[in-house]
Amino acid sequence: MANVTLRNVRKTYTGGFEAIKGVNVDVADGQFCVLVGPSGCGKSTLLRMVAGLETVTGGEIDIGGRVVNQIEPADRDIAMVFQNYALYPHMSVYNNMAYGLRNRGMAETEVKSRVEEAARVLELTSMLERKPRQLSGGQRQRVAMGRAIVRQPKVFLFDEPLSNLDAKLRIAMRVEIRKLQRRLNTTSIYVTHDQLEAMTLADVLVVMNGGQVEQVGNPLAIYEKPATTFVASFIGAPPMNLMSTRADEIKSQLNGAATEAGILGIRPEDFVITDQTPAGGVALPLTVEAIERVGAETFIYGSREQEEQRVAATPGELPPGEVIVRIPGTEAPAIGARIRVAAIRPK
Ligand code: ATP
Repeated sequence: MANVTLRNVRKTYTGGFEAIKGVNVDVADGQFCVLVGPSGCGKSTLLRMVAGLETVTGGEIDIGGRVVNQIEPADRDIAMVFQNYALYPHMSVYNNMAYGLRNRGMAETEVKSRVEEAARVLELTSMLERKPRQLSGGQRQRVAMGRAIVRQPKVFLFDEPLSNLDAKLRIAMRVEIRKLQRRLNTTSIYVTHDQLEAMTLADVLVVMNGGQVEQVGNPLAIYEKPATTFVASFIGAPPMNLMSTRADEIKSQLNGAATEAGILGIRPEDFVITDQTPAGGVALPLTVEAIERVGAETFIYGSREQEEQRVAATPGELPPGEVIVRIPGTEAPAIGARIRVAAIRPK
């Protein structure tokens, strides 16, 4: 078993800055856990603590039933894939993958069999004699993954491994990583600031902010029921529309169901353009300010009436008064048009 458990984990850096403020996370054996959050929220710090590259100043990290706080990185049975790949430039692909195994004194026949198997899985067989500079970014990334795979660790740790790739390759590699992890069934912890990458990769999503966990759970469950306004505005692009329910029209549409201080969150795709108000739903008059057509869907950026411009103050929030509506297709109202939108599924 290689479950990873973080119990009240804390990190105070020399100088007194508290980067991690008591984090509890449980990753079951074989699960893919993604740590996501804005820059500086502490996700790399947390991952580096699991790897043993940072000391733990409070709490416990448990890998496979063993507290590893005092255990050297090399003895934790983990393998880490870095953003910059960290390949040896003067070594061939084969030797890059073999290096760590030879260092551990593994017999050359076993080294060969593991490297060849990893190369086969990663489609690198024809490139084993090349040097890293003779590879594309995506191929280098696969070599870095190969180096982790040959170790056959209990846990893979990924630190933003796709952030140096262009958009198209990122998506392709994201799918590859997920397929590979399903096949190998190795417990994985993956750090990213990209919420889409997080949503698509995770069995368990951990949303972090300011050194703390805001919410842990299944990605779609978090998308459907964000626990805080931070999570609501961080997960989902474009972000969820957050509105104070004190705005009179919204409140009346909710038939008094909203509390005075409540915040109503509506995803852009939950709006439709209509003059009807669905039962228990919410309707808003908007002036169309901007339109973005991206092919299969169109985003309408509308402004609300003056009296409805009270919006919750959270990071990543919509500018006051702005509502984003996502509609399928390319048909859209004209800029400056006054439209009425209704949410069919208010949350
Ligand atoms: P990013 O996505 O930008 O890499 P992150 O969420 O991974 O961000 P961390 O690198 O974990 O964030 O950093 C968390 C906080 O700890 C930041 O405020 C950072 O400035 C601080 N920090 C990181 N390393 C140190 C250090 N060695 N000494 C002091 N503070 C540090």
